[in-house]
Amino acid sequence: MLKADEQRIVSDLMLTKEAFSIASSNFLQREQNYFDLLNCSLGVNFKKIIPVDDIYFTDKQKKSIIKYTDQEYWDFMNFVYQNKETLKSIGKHLDDFSNSIDFTNFPYLNVPRRYSEKDFIDLILSYYSTYGDKYYKIAKKYFDEKRIHIGCDRVQSFVMGYFAPIIWLHSGYIFSTITDYNGYTASSIIHELGHAIDAEMYLFPQQKKVNIYSNMFTEIPSTAFEVGFYDYLKSQHIDVIGGTVLRNNRAANIIFPFHRIREALVDEELLIYENGAAVSSNGKQYNLKKEITYGIGYDFAYHLSEIRKSNPQEFLKVLNNLMTMRKEMTFDDAIEMTGFNYEDFITGKYIKPTIKEDCLTLKKRYFG
Ligand SMILES: [Zn+2]
Repeated sequence: MLKADEQRIVSDLMLTKEAFSIASSNFLQREQNYFDLLNCSLGVNFKKIIPVDDIYFTDKQKKSIIKYTDQEYWDFMNFVYQNKETLKSIGKHLDDFSNSIDFTNFPYLNVPRRYSEKDFIDLILSYYSTYGDKYYKIAKKYFDEKRIHIGCDRVQSFVMGYFAPIIWLHSGYIFSTITDYNGYTASSIIHELGHAIDAEMYLFPQQKKVNIYSNMFTEIPSTAFEVGFYDYLKSQHIDVIGGTVLRNNRAANIIFPFHRIREALVDEELLIYENGAAVSSNGKQYNLKKEITYGIGYDFAYHLSEIRKSNPQEFLKVLNNLMTMRKEMTFDDAIEMTGFNYEDFITGKYIKPTIKEDCLTLKKRYFG
């Protein structure tokens, strides 16, 4: 089983004073502390402190927010309200599309092929090698230097993997709850390696102070590489049906979150708490921050996947631009940067055909 090099983690952590007390105990038994520490290292360096007065809320909107403790939360809400109509519009088009094709999620995550540990690692590395040496080398380093630790009890409440950056070392670790090797678990490691690549290629060298908008774009590189993997499984005939199941399952990660985002944002009385938890006037609860960061991530990833299929170099260029400009760009800028017409992006014109095709293939296969 892939286990991180505990001794190196200790020595990495020894580099900070706060880490010292944790490193002295058997912290792999207390993984959450370790995550918190690393998260904290990220937070302290990346958090942008802006005065509340600078936030553009109307009085009514401010009134609807009953509690906050964290500046990040204000940044997030500011983004939500500034882009409320765009988010709702994407949601409406996806709802209409989903109804028109009777979209069905096939969460058959045991369908993707199983691999030996060696083949699992080879699969991930050969996938990343399709993007060129730079990407391959970062992915390989995480395996070679034992920076991937699987079989954790938990990482965060709703994810199976977690990239823990160590900013002062320009590197990090991947922690995951996976315990076996198949296409699904490979996609999860590929996702986390996407975060590692983002950090090592863009965030660390540029000393990016990620602000309000960029936080919303956190999941774009990770999901872009993840969705690319589904296309790779299909196009290289490694596991066509497994790739289709995974791709269909992630399409649900665009359609369903945007449905809930739209539902939540219709409500003028929506109460939003710290960490983006929201409660509507009828008592319904939403994890708005999760829905929005992943919804946006997968929506962009599916768009970028259409670019990559026809032009891999253009895909890398667009991804590169998005990651480089994230600090300065608005949501509209980000859409424009993909090269898709704004309206076509909002309506999902270019991502619908493949989603429909995957859904039809699986319906035929499983429903006859
Ligand atoms: Zn992620």
